[in-house]
Amino acid sequence: MRLVPPLFSRLICIKNNSNRKTMILPILAYGDTILRKKTKSLSKDYPKLDVLLDNMFETMYAAKGIGLAAPQVGLPVRLFIVNATPFEDDEDLTEAEREFASTFVQVFINAKMVEETGDEWAFNEGCLSIPDIREEVFRQRTITIEYYDEKFVKHKETIDGIVARIVQHEFDHIQGILFTDKLSALKKRLIKGRLADITKGKVEVDYKMRFPKVKKKC
Ligand SMILES: [Zn+2]
Repeated sequence: MRLVPPLFSRLICIKNNSNRKTMILPILAYGDTILRKKTKSLSKDYPKLDVLLDNMFETMYAAKGIGLAAPQVGLPVRLFIVNATPFEDDEDLTEAEREFASTFVQVFINAKMVEETGDEWAFNEGCLSIPDIREEVFRQRTITIEYYDEKFVKHKETIDGIVARIVQHEFDHIQGILFTDKLSALKKRLIKGRLADITKGKVEVDYKMRFPKVKKKC
C-alpha cells in the first residue's frame, strides 16, 4: 500500500540492526500474473528469510510505501510487511490511533484473517503495484488476525482503524486480490485504460518496477 501524498515527507526509515547489505527489489506492476497466483505458506526453514525481509523493508521505504507483500516482489508466498509509523502525525486520526500507528512496524507470516467486524468505511487507497491510481475503498473497521512474526512466534491480534486498513490491503495481496477489484463496475470502467497503460509501463514512477508488457533488456 502506498502513502497518501501529504505524508511523504514524514516517512520514517527504520534502520535494520545488522550489517547485511540490502537490495532494492523491483516491484511488479498491475497485470503481472504473480500478483494473482495462489500463495504458499512459509516454513521455518525458508531459505534466507532474514535477507528477504531486509530487502523488502528497504524496497518498501525506497518506494515510500506503508506496506509490501511478497507477491509484489515476485514471490507467491504468504508474507507481508507493514509500516504504519508515518501516520503518527496524521491530523485526521484520533490521538489513540496516531499513538498506535506511531510504533507499528510488523512482519506478517502465514496470516489468517479470523474476523472482520464493524461498519464499512471509505479510505483513499493506493498500491505500489498500481502507481498513480488512488480510489476510495470500503472495508470494515476492525479485524482479528492470526500470524507469525519473523521469529516464528504466533500472534493473534485485534486491530482497528488505519492500521487494520493497511493490514487488510496487504492481506488481500497474499490472496491474489488488488484494491481495484473492490471498486464499482463504473469506477473499474473509468480506470481501465490507465490500468492497461500501467501493464505497458506507460506511467511516471519514481521507484524500481517491472512491467508485464515491457520486454526485459538483455
Ligand atoms: Zn498494494
